[in-house]
Amino acid sequence: MNYVSQVLENLKNNNPNEPEFHQAATEILMTLAPVMEKHPEYEQAALLERFVEPERVVMFRVPWVDDSGKVRVNKGYRVQFNSAIGPYKGGLRFHPSVNLSIIKFLGLEQILKNSLTGLPIGGGKGGSDFNPKGKSDREIMNFCQSFMTELYRHIGADTDVPAGDIGVGGREIGYLFGQYKRLRNEHVGVLTGRGLSYGGSLVRTEATGYGLVYITEEALKARGDSFKGKTVIISGAGNVAIYACEKAQSLGAKVVAMYDSDGYIYEPDGIKLEVVKNIKEVKRGRIKDYVNEVKTAKYFEGCRGIWTIPCDIALPCATQNEIDAASAEKLVKNGVKYVAEGANMPSTLEAIEIFQKSGVVFLPAKAANAGGVATSALEMAQSSGRMFWTFEEVDAKLKNIMINIYRNMESAAKEYGYEGNYVMGANIAGFIKVANAMMAHGVV
Ligand code: NDP
Repeated sequence: MNYVSQVLENLKNNNPNEPEFHQAATEILMTLAPVMEKHPEYEQAALLERFVEPERVVMFRVPWVDDSGKVRVNKGYRVQFNSAIGPYKGGLRFHPSVNLSIIKFLGLEQILKNSLTGLPIGGGKGGSDFNPKGKSDREIMNFCQSFMTELYRHIGADTDVPAGDIGVGGREIGYLFGQYKRLRNEHVGVLTGRGLSYGGSLVRTEATGYGLVYITEEALKARGDSFKGKTVIISGAGNVAIYACEKAQSLGAKVVAMYDSDGYIYEPDGIKLEVVKNIKEVKRGRIKDYVNEVKTAKYFEGCRGIWTIPCDIALPCATQNEIDAASAEKLVKNGVKYVAEGANMPSTLEAIEIFQKSGVVFLPAKAANAGGVATSALEMAQSSGRMFWTFEEVDAKLKNIMINIYRNMESAAKEYGYEGNYVMGANIAGFIKVANAMMAHGVV
């Protein structure tokens, strides 16, 4: 058995009941075999064994009081995966499905994503099985304060800088930051995605969605094409989905469908984004409310049906494994040409294989959604320099970073003989920088 397969097998045996972590590790490790062949010294240094083992895992109790006075208890996690190239960096997810396997898959992905941005940030991820849906502001605040009362001792502006993810937006970051500041008596850039009045960066809200569209635009451009006139499907109706829709529309695309976890809307004339924003960002409502305001749109219960709608470009922006093999086949049959992942690991391994075999241009999450964390790193730079860049400045830097990511993964894929395979390209380009730093640090 070769080195990569051996590491993967040990990982599965040593971390049972972590299917999402196994899936992410399989996708990454299998693409690194050519790197290991070129660098036999990595095996001697047990580099892969170290790469897949988090530097530190913190798990903790989060007790809080609901509006009826009842005490509730959730699980809290922070996985500090790899700090070879910079402080741990990665979001916090609040969702009932959160468990150690999910946080570890996200953390592992984050190492390579952060490396790909070209900025000095290591990989980490955290969260809780707390469900923010239907909770009052006071309950959210109680929970966030309790969560930070343990987390604060493990993080810091030069140690570990969390951000948002599913269920953690501007409101939650505000409560988390307020509690950190109170406990530490420090006003520092310890979280990103902060409000503009207390150290946040312009464009952070839009960054992941905009970045996704910038990198897809680059892939289109390389093929003499553009977003203009393209039919686009976007899953999700949260932060990433909304700003991917905004940028795609501004480039002339027609976005015809979006969903939340209950069902999807289909609007053949093109979705009216201001209606979605009002429902999701202002009222914190459900996507089905859209059809009450836009009579030409239709609402369908359940999510999977969205992938049966014909489109040129699919941008999955909700959650892991939302495109399985059957959905991928449907998309291909209906003529999809580009799939770019806004969410983390939204396509199963089988779905990725179907896209690649069918000649679909497939841009994997760790490259395609890196705009969020890249802009978080720009927020960190502004915080430590006590300065504030304009929207145009940050947006231009974001676009430049996304174009560089595209070029780097393109050339890494080519160098290793896998031209056009961006899964290979992104993993290899991201890994080499981390591997070089780990080798330089010795056995740590
Ligand atoms: P939000 O919480 O803002 O939105 C998530 C959206 O996805 C909501 O519409 C939600 O619907 C839907 N969703 C969540 N779980 C499911 C599910 N199991 N089935 C169907 N729909 C679901 O999160 P974000 O937009 O921030 O994150 C979306 C994805 O992008 C995640 O994979 C995240 O890791 C990734 N990402 C986010 C970044 C960021 O900067 N925010 C950066 C990089 C990646 P509902 O409201 O009904 O739950």
